[in-house]
Amino acid sequence: MRVGIVGGGQLARMLALAARPLGIDVTVLEPTPSPPAASVATVIAAPFDDPAGLAQLADTCDVITVELEAVPVASLQWLNQHRPVHPSPQFVAVTQDRLIEKEALRDAGIVTAPFGPDTPLPAVVKTRFGGYDGRGQQRATTIDELTAAINALPDPIVEGIVTFHRELSIIAAADAKGELRYWPVATNEHRHGILHMSTPRLDDPRQHEAEALARRIIETHHIVGVMCIELFDTDGGLVANEMAPRVHNSGHWTIDGSTTSQFEQHIRAICALPLGDSDLRQPCATINVIGAEPPLDELLAIDGVHVHRYEKPARPSRKLGHVTVTAPNDWLLNERVQRVVTVISPP
Ligand code: AMP
Repeated sequence: MRVGIVGGGQLARMLALAARPLGIDVTVLEPTPSPPAASVATVIAAPFDDPAGLAQLADTCDVITVELEAVPVASLQWLNQHRPVHPSPQFVAVTQDRLIEKEALRDAGIVTAPFGPDTPLPAVVKTRFGGYDGRGQQRATTIDELTAAINALPDPIVEGIVTFHRELSIIAAADAKGELRYWPVATNEHRHGILHMSTPRLDDPRQHEAEALARRIIETHHIVGVMCIELFDTDGGLVANEMAPRVHNSGHWTIDGSTTSQFEQHIRAICALPLGDSDLRQPCATINVIGAEPPLDELLAIDGVHVHRYEKPARPSRKLGHVTVTAPNDWLLNERVQRVVTVISPP
């Protein structure tokens, strides 16, 4: 069995690392030289729309998946004529465009921020395509600021500001037979628009509500594999911000904290293998390493630490790795997390 992945970044790397113990090989299609997946997967070095590269991926792999949504839909449609592609090209297309994505959420009966030209201020203006980690968005509290933001951003969409207590995400998996698994929801903290820390919690008061939303999306879009919905927890219930048709940064804790990681689950689902337990084995949290590599020896000196490096050249704001901390109880977890945060981003 060989899985083909469009994209060779850290998510492809972790998918390949999860496939290896199952005896499943991985090939990635990736134009960037020496991508994170290169040390654990076969690389086809070609752009995502290169006909020869796509043909080689289809010829050599049994099933195809993606590690990012910014992939030409036409490439996925072409691949899908030759091999099964999960997630479907149609669902990837939905998640590429914030406007279509919001409409899809609304059509599935899921609450989103108000959006469109009549959105009341204050608002956030985002670019419909390609923005991530808080890039490609501006806040506006006055009409002048709104006009400036709309003129500054390509393909703008205006969204109302949601007042929330916290941000959370649900990660779910489905197989082709309709079997579903949900991991415990994680609370997500961002710094400078980039995910800083994800902390899953057993018996989160929003667990059932979040599962119901994920189920609706999975069933509406016939999803096979892992997907994520990012949510705001508000007084009036959960409000969906965006969806990912793939494994997600807020689920990296599942490698060290769950019986089945999101990466292994995705491989299982797309390879028509039985799904595994999506439990939380002990308290844990994942902290992202962003911009600079922390000293490995200082991290490893902390109990309960699991270091995952992506082997990427350091650059400001770039995700270079993550650290998951596990602990027998919440008190120790908190203490260890504080030490890890101090090593990763010294005061
Ligand atoms: P996004 O690029 O949509 O993931 O947004 C990045 C971050 O901006 C989110 O994680 C939130 O912290 C914040 N944000 C995005 N949209 C809204 C909104 N409509 N209301 C309030 N905060 C938002």
